[in-house]
Amino acid sequence: MLETPVKQRELEKVNQLLESHQSLLDAYQKLEIIVLGLFDAERMSIFQRRRQNQDLVARFKTGSETREIKVPISPQSIAGYVALAQLPLMIKDPYNAEELRQVHQRLRFEGKFDKSSDFTTRNILCVPILNSGVLLGVLQVINKRKGDFSDDDLQIAQDLTQIIGNKFRYELGGTQQPFQYLVHSNLLKEADLNQITESSKDNRQLIQRLISELRINEEHIGHALSIHYQVPYIPFNPDKYHLYQSDSRLNSSYLKRNLVAVISDASDNPTVLMAEPNNAALLMEIESALGIESYEISVGLPNAILQYLGASGAGNGAPGAMDDILDEIGTSAEEADDSSDEMSDDAPAVVRLVSRILHDAKRINASDIHIDPEKNGPTRVRMRVDGVCRDMNQVPASHHSAVIARIKIMSNLNIAEKRVPQDGKIAVKMSGQLVEVRVATIPTVGGEGVVMRILASGGALPLEKMNLSSRNTGMLKDMISKPHGILLVVGPTGSGKTTTLHAVLGDLNTPDKKIWTAEDPVEITQAGLQQVQVNPKIGFTFANALRAFLRADPDIILIGEMRDKETAHAGIEASLTGHLVLSTLHTNSAPETITRLLDLGLDPVNFSDACVGILAQRLIRTICPKCKEKHPASEDDIAFIRRQYGEAYIDEINIQNLELYRGKGCEECGDTGYKGRTGVHELLAMTPDLRSLVYKEASVSEMKKQAMKDGMRTLTQDGILKVLKGDTDIAQLQIISGAD
Ligand SMILES: [Zn+2]
Repeated sequence: MLETPVKQRELEKVNQLLESHQSLLDAYQKLEIIVLGLFDAERMSIFQRRRQNQDLVARFKTGSETREIKVPISPQSIAGYVALAQLPLMIKDPYNAEELRQVHQRLRFEGKFDKSSDFTTRNILCVPILNSGVLLGVLQVINKRKGDFSDDDLQIAQDLTQIIGNKFRYELGGTQQPFQYLVHSNLLKEADLNQITESSKDNRQLIQRLISELRINEEHIGHALSIHYQVPYIPFNPDKYHLYQSDSRLNSSYLKRNLVAVISDASDNPTVLMAEPNNAALLMEIESALGIESYEISVGLPNAILQYLGASGAGNGAPGAMDDILDEIGTSAEEADDSSDEMSDDAPAVVRLVSRILHDAKRINASDIHIDPEKNGPTRVRMRVDGVCRDMNQVPASHHSAVIARIKIMSNLNIAEKRVPQDGKIAVKMSGQLVEVRVATIPTVGGEGVVMRILASGGALPLEKMNLSSRNTGMLKDMISKPHGILLVVGPTGSGKTTTLHAVLGDLNTPDKKIWTAEDPVEITQAGLQQVQVNPKIGFTFANALRAFLRADPDIILIGEMRDKETAHAGIEASLTGHLVLSTLHTNSAPETITRLLDLGLDPVNFSDACVGILAQRLIRTICPKCKEKHPASEDDIAFIRRQYGEAYIDEINIQNLELYRGKGCEECGDTGYKGRTGVHELLAMTPDLRSLVYKEASVSEMKKQAMKDGMRTLTQDGILKVLKGDTDIAQLQIISGAD
């Protein structure tokens, strides 16, 4: 073996040699002599990694001719494997397949050089050439004359590759650190880079801060990384690249954690997109899991990689499982020190979290989403399903601001303004459907809260599915068959008035009728209707819309709500001039609606002439069909029913041997025993007797008495009918009680 001083002297020679030559190739022949002497070997190859081609190329001069050997970075060759694994390798006999297999299952010796000459490779020492952890090439020394390569040879080879690495780096114009290029090209001050590097936990955070704090654009950062890692940079470009489809065992949380995505272009060539392409161990794992032999390696920004991964899911932009997202957030929350503003609103996890919340809401058929800040704890996400709020998930407090900001950006609200409530809306595509979401922000002492209302989308429910009693169905159909008049649907917010009006319109919607609707908002759309969204903020009110409709030759007009005297008056006028008008009011019962309108200043004669009927309604929860069970009514139940239905009417219903229904609670209904909702109704018909009471402006109770004599049944009575039918239980009737 060579003595240490001799070795040192030879390595110093190599250093001087490389310094004094323009390129490695120029120095090659002299270098070869020194290297072969150092190892007492027959041949040497230096493979250089090519940035754009993802392979290694060895160039050497034979006489005046320059020859090239190219090998991919893969176990297909020994140099390729060493480049892939970034580990040195000593092979005693490259033609011994078993020895190769022990290194890697698919390691092969190609023997390209042997095949093209009468040379026989007997043993190989192969060492990666690295600089600052980046693979630049591979040094291969072949055929030690006496015996096998030793550990001492390995040590010398590693010292040698370090020297060569510096030369390669110089030749390739590479950088010592990932972001040095930004300093070289005057995009960033060295001091700023140092400061931000020291105070960032990792490259991912560093990159985010370069973008957000130092305003460096992504393209420049990508270029800097490309130069440093010596691989091409690929930005997020879903038009050009998609996730590579394979039966690999790579799970998405593994890929996300390691910031690596396997993508491919239109011609399906896979590229391993990595945030840190010099992570050889990771590359090896990916390579073996994918089982692909040819692929490119590129560098991508962490966010872009997550965007590629995020776009996978169910293939329709599904944002990934909530648990995965919360996991990811949990991890990044830990990393984000404890500053609550650390997380930015466009961080992929935040984007997907908000998207996931919206998808979940749609999936469980929620009407509202509540994102409530808590003063000392995680943010609560609740959703209202069938009228009842349900706890969904918790978002770490550190992400509260980012989530709220994301929602505000989506709904075009001012993210800087956190002290006053704001209203906006989002149109999102959920399971292929465009859904409108109304957003209201409310500042609380615990922070800014958001309530989102998901507008029911899709078509109208048929009138027959409204669960009206047969008497009410007949009466309602009779009322709407009139060519003119006004029909009012009344009840508090969330009592299903819009659904009912659209069911009525659906029944009336025939080609021979021109139907105009003014709604706020348009929740249900129906072909054949001319639907208009009013916007009081810009002065386009229900009254304005109604006046416009009257000039547009209507047969039937829907006015979303009679909020004020002007609208109510215009609605009555329209119905008296030959149109059927449908509208709503926020009143509790049908008889009360009459006095409310008269209190607004409507003429009693005009109103009673115009009015064809008033339908009051509520929504109550229905028993879950999966866990519904029968039970005999208790004495208390029967007494309750008697009292509520009224002794005067009790003969209308059969309470002998009464059996009632209840929901035991099951998985399907989240153990609530309820699933879905149905309406209960109170339909008042404007009969001549009632009309004369309206003329006299009689009291509510007088009018109610008359209406009931004419056949009206109260909300409570209708509710009891639905209890007896088994739609609901007695507990749900409490929602109605007090209504009449
Ligand atoms: Zn159930």
